[in-house]
Amino acid sequence: MSVKGSVAKTPAQRLLEVLGPVDKFPTDEEIGQFGMPSGEFMQDMLGPVAKAGIQTRLGPLEKIHVFWFAGMSCDGCTVSVTGAQAPSLESLLLGAHPGLPRIILHHAAVNVESGPSYLRPHEQALRGELDAPYAIVLEGSIADEVKALETGGYWAGHGEEPWGPDGQIRTVSANEWIARLASRAAATIAIGTCATWGGIPASHGNPTGSMSLMDFLGKDYRSEFGLPVVNIPGCAPIGDNFTETVASILYFLQGFGPLPEFDELGRPAWLFGETVHRHCVRGAYYEEGTYAETFGDPECLVEIGCWGPVVNCNITSRGAINHQGGCMNAGGACIGCTMPGFPDKFTPFYKTPPGSMLSTAASRILGSFVRPLRQFTNEDLNREVRWDVHGDNPSGWAREKLEPGLVATIGHKFYTKMRRSTDRGKGEVEPWGKRKEWTEKEEPGAEAKLQRKVQRQD
Ligand code: SF4
Ligand code: SF4
Repeated sequence: MSVKGSVAKTPAQRLLEVLGPVDKFPTDEEIGQFGMPSGEFMQDMLGPVAKAGIQTRLGPLEKIHVFWFAGMSCDGCTVSVTGAQAPSLESLLLGAHPGLPRIILHHAAVNVESGPSYLRPHEQALRGELDAPYAIVLEGSIADEVKALETGGYWAGHGEEPWGPDGQIRTVSANEWIARLASRAAATIAIGTCATWGGIPASHGNPTGSMSLMDFLGKDYRSEFGLPVVNIPGCAPIGDNFTETVASILYFLQGFGPLPEFDELGRPAWLFGETVHRHCVRGAYYEEGTYAETFGDPECLVEIGCWGPVVNCNITSRGAINHQGGCMNAGGACIGCTMPGFPDKFTPFYKTPPGSMLSTAASRILGSFVRPLRQFTNEDLNREVRWDVHGDNPSGWAREKLEPGLVATIGHKFYTKMRRSTDRGKGEVEPWGKRKEWTEKEEPGAEAKLQRKVQRQD
């Protein structure tokens, strides 16, 4: 138990205390010919095409390694990031962006190296022998490996090393790698709600002791370049949110710009500063007080469980992938998946959030006045001025539609008067379209006059 005023150890420090230091690493002979040689894929195979051109030599970094770890995860973050478009993962791996270093990704689902060969760059990073700086990315939450060790097990393994008693091979958890590598990482990034806040594995019950990366490394954690943990939440997160943030941080590390703005929870402020509601495609339904009763209805989803008005997330403006889809666009209500309180503070899902009742009641009352007025004006704006003059609509589609009655005509005229009340030229010139068309009825001989005029011009 921590005593007030004393400096409590972080979970990462406690884990390393239990595991102790490591100094034995497998030799090339011990690794042998197992699988593809280390560095073969990302580093060597992509090398000729990704060879840093002049564009990536503008800054001090020609390349940067990224170690991707998975804790208590569903791999949804990996799926999101591999589908990112702006910028795409491929373009980052190929160093295709002017000024950005090429990324050498070490990811168990993407690389083709395996076993000890896959782990070799991790070991080099640990020994300080890597040929470039490195960053750490975590998807999934950090389960309490100290708890697992009590029964000789582990929660999330990430390879094996000869770090057991007397050099025995033992499983190394993702947490252990992070605890050992974090202090010398250029940046440490948590992706997805599990890694950023704990998420579903850390929800009520939580038998694994799951926590976020921030909780694991502690408040005082700073990367080698002075950054606290960067958090990009979402379940699953928007892939572009991750790649864009990585690109922004890399521009900073290259010296091309200031550190991008992060909020007090380490979220990219430009991505998470707004609520879902403010950019929602259904926002106007909320304002007019009309609400969906069931999924599939086009109106605002708040009464069937949408938390959008109080949730920080940019999916309504960014879309899920390639600016397409996203919860409300696809018919889903917001369940707050980007938020630190998710999921416990948002359950039960798909029930009216209690806080929304006051505002929906107010919108309903206001909407009952505003909607008919808007519809009234909308009908007027759907008519050419010429049709008003003639009292007729030439569209064959409108055969069955009656012309506006006396009340509507007076109302529309009154509206037009209001609209033109600030027009300084009012009364002096007839606005375009106000002329009556010449007709034989209104001006006998007009047709013949027009024909003579046309002949003269010929
Ligand atoms: S669906 Fe949700 S986010 Fe969209 S307008 Fe309604 S409450 Fe707001
Ligand atoms: S709109 Fe809500 S549920 Fe959808 S991604 Fe954003 S926070 Fe998650």
